[in-house]
This record gives sequence, structure tokens and C-alpha cells, in this order.
Amino acid sequence: MPPPGAPELRGDCADCFGLCCVALSFSAVEGFPSDKGAGEPCGHLRDDFGCAVHRELRPRGYAGCATYDCFGAGQKASRHTFGGVDWRQEPATAPAMFAVLPVLRQLQELLHYLAEARALPAAHPLHTELARVYGLTERLTLADADTLLVTDVARHRAEVVAPLLARAAELARGTRPDGRTGRGAGPRRLRGADLSGARFTGADLRGADLRGARLIAADLRGADLRGADLIGADLRGADLAGADLRDTLFLTQSQLDAAKGDSTTALPPRPVRPAHWGTAP
Ligand code: SF4
Repeated sequence: MPPPGAPELRGDCADCFGLCCVALSFSAVEGFPSDKGAGEPCGHLRDDFGCAVHRELRPRGYAGCATYDCFGAGQKASRHTFGGVDWRQEPATAPAMFAVLPVLRQLQELLHYLAEARALPAAHPLHTELARVYGLTERLTLADADTLLVTDVARHRAEVVAPLLARAAELARGTRPDGRTGRGAGPRRLRGADLSGARFTGADLRGADLRGARLIAADLRGADLRGADLIGADLRGADLAGADLRDTLFLTQSQLDAAKGDSTTALPPRPVRPAHWGTAP
């Protein structure tokens, strides 16, 4: 298994046919400056598949592009699934190529989480099983386009990957940041809860189960989130200024990029501090 953050688990726009800039739709109501339909190339996509406004995405209103992470699906679809032949050279392949991207992205995201789980010291008893499921999932990503398009990713996630990640998280959350054992100090089971706009200023959320929680624009300033499980949590616009996110589980770069923070937000070694937050003290 590759380590978390390995090149094959991160988007590499230079090795991709600009797939997310064509395949995916966006709209003004989602915070983009205009509407774009799925399968329609963005007007800023260059002939070499680079982005003409890459350095100024946020000021131009493309925060959604700045926070998107394909987990390596773009280059895998471009180079492996479609053998390096792009949709401009072979327009007939375009519909399949664009349809494959979201399928591959979901699978690559699962690989990312499995690699993260493998790196948790407390998950050591699960290493063999994590490697087996990683291999199983990776094999799915290497299938041809027709097979990918009928792959039941939701079932694979629900029946194979999610239970294993939950076990890894339980093991990790069972070791509290203060070294004592137990379910963690997080008092609330907030899994999947809609906490949009909620006020958690200075809250003790250590070890909390926040899997899939909607924390859009939540006030988490100064909150202690050490050891909290944030897999799939929606942190768009959440204010993490001064919050402690060291040892959080399954925190992704796009979650951080979509949130607000400042130089006092304490982060794990990975992901990296978003440039628009400012620098650490
Ligand atoms: S603005 Fe740039 S990154 Fe966003 S969709 Fe358009 S070309 Fe792609």
C-alpha cells in the first residue's frame, strides 16, 4: 500500500485531459460565477488542458475548483483507462471518459481513506485486512471503461470499505489524546447530523464521531477536535480559527480548503495549511 498522500492518490492536473473541467457541471447557485453543464468544456480550459486562471481561482469566484480533489482519478482515467488518447483526439470516447471520472474518483477516494487508515498506529491489528481491501479496490480502478461504468461503487463502499474504516477509526478513537483509553472525550455522537451554522465555539469535541456531518458555516473557532472522525464531513465555510485539529481522522485537503481558518489553527502534518488561511505562527 502506498503511504497517505502518495502521488497516485493525488490529482495531477499536468497528466490529465482536464476531465473535471469538462465532465462536471457547476452553477452560480453553488458559488461559481456562472453555470456550466456536464460535458461542456469550461471557457478557461486551455488547449493543453491547463487552466488559464489557475493562479486566481478564488478571486474570480472559482473556489469550487480550488477545493476539488480527484484523488488521482483524472490522471488514471486519462492515462490508464483511455490509454493516453484524449477526448479532443477521439471525440467518440468523450461521453465514456466523462462518465468514468466520477466513478473512478469515488474509488480513488476510498483508496485514499484506506491508506490513511493504514497509517494510524492504533489500526495495526487491521493491517492485513486493510491491504487486502486496498488491493481489491485498486483492481476495480484498473478495469476498462465499460466495467467501471457498471461497477457498484456504493455497494463496495458500504459493504467492504466503510465497515473496515469504521473499525480503524474506533481503534484510533479509543486512544484519547491525553493517553487514556476509552471511546474518546467527544461527548456527542454527531454522525451524519445536520449541524450547518451550529455554534461550537471552544467546544470539547475530542474523539467525536462526526462522520458525514454537515458542518457548513459552523462556528468551530477554538474547538478541540483532536481525535475526531471527520470522514465525509462537510466543512464548507466552517470557521476553524484557533481550532485544534491535530490527530483528527480522515481529514482531507479539500475539506480544509473549503473551510476557513487562521494562523492559530493547529493541524496534523497532513493535509497542508491552505494558502488562503495565512501562515502558522
Ligand atoms: S476555472 Fe479552471 S480549474 Fe475551474 S473548471 Fe475552468 S478550467 Fe477548470
